[in-house]
Amino acid sequence: MLQRRLGRTNFGASVVGFGGIPIQYQPREEAVRVVRRAIELGVNFIDTARSYGDSEDKIGAAIKEVREKLFISTKSHFRTKREVERSIEESLRRLAVDKLDLILIHSVDSDEELEYRLRMGVLEAMKEARATGKVDYIGISGHCNDVLAKAIKTGEFDAVMATYNLTNDDGDRELFPLARERNVGVVVMKPLGGGYLAVPPEAVQFKVADRATSTAEASLRFVLRNPYITTVIPGMGKIKEVEEDVPLGYVPQRMPSSEVKELQERAKEVGFTFCQGCGYCLPLCPKGIRIQDVFRLLVSHEQYGMREWAKTIYWEEHEALVTLCDECLSCVEICPAQLDIPAKLKEAAAILGSKH
Ligand code: SF4
Ligand code: SF4
Repeated sequence: MLQRRLGRTNFGASVVGFGGIPIQYQPREEAVRVVRRAIELGVNFIDTARSYGDSEDKIGAAIKEVREKLFISTKSHFRTKREVERSIEESLRRLAVDKLDLILIHSVDSDEELEYRLRMGVLEAMKEARATGKVDYIGISGHCNDVLAKAIKTGEFDAVMATYNLTNDDGDRELFPLARERNVGVVVMKPLGGGYLAVPPEAVQFKVADRATSTAEASLRFVLRNPYITTVIPGMGKIKEVEEDVPLGYVPQRMPSSEVKELQERAKEVGFTFCQGCGYCLPLCPKGIRIQDVFRLLVSHEQYGMREWAKTIYWEEHEALVTLCDECLSCVEICPAQLDIPAKLKEAAAILGSKH
């Protein structure tokens, strides 16, 4: 497995890492097998989060004998110092480790949220954990590259976790070059579009180096060819997925720019447009609809099988607001994925709404 140094950490991370979301939906034994298979095939960067159900527990059970070879990254979505302190303790306990290699402030998608978490002592809690040897490095994850760039400029972070895939190359513009300049590691999440690129219709195939490939393979190779990226963490919940995804990290993925362009155009052509979670629409909706959160619930319902949970959150937090959408189109004008947002909100209401 090829490795790249994770920014200033001096750790050689496998270019294909392990995304720990899907194992929460697998029985414990199967999940452990999946993590172990990935490690066996050369993965040494394992990512999870306090908010991914029992993913940390399952990883903890899988890594016992090989912990020292691995770089364990988890995240805390909590918004106050005390809560983050508790969540670090909880992560250590569930992962059954003495130390976290990397802890990330989880999902910061607006300037206001970044300022809020910093003001509330979230970073302070992580720095204190680092001072007492519970954590080695600190990072931040989010879907809005401008916010992550701002975070890098504070000089406080060793790694950023950002989205990048066939349909979203925004990171190339500012974030990735900035990360390199500041010696900050780049971890790419959602290389398969949060599942959308992993389950294409049969007819949709891509060509890489004149060979037909699945959309998932094309997208992973597209990400891996990018030298700015330290490691990419496709979510893996099945042995088959591990065995398909991980070997792509064994050889350098080189692609001429003409092929890169072709792949991106093909992705557009076949209509792979989905919410990238960038948050650009958030301040624009006069009705206060949290558009990206609604779309994420739809993904949880459709791709991850979290049906009841997604419906309940939708009813409790979003349903009343979504009905207020008057199709003013303010959000559509800014959306980089060019989504027909009002239509997609109607789809969400039909699937998640209380009448169904
Ligand atoms: S709907 Fe569009 S603008 Fe809003 S978060 Fe998703 S991709 Fe970004
Ligand atoms: S079209 Fe609907 S969701 Fe978009 S800004 Fe207008 S009211 Fe909000």
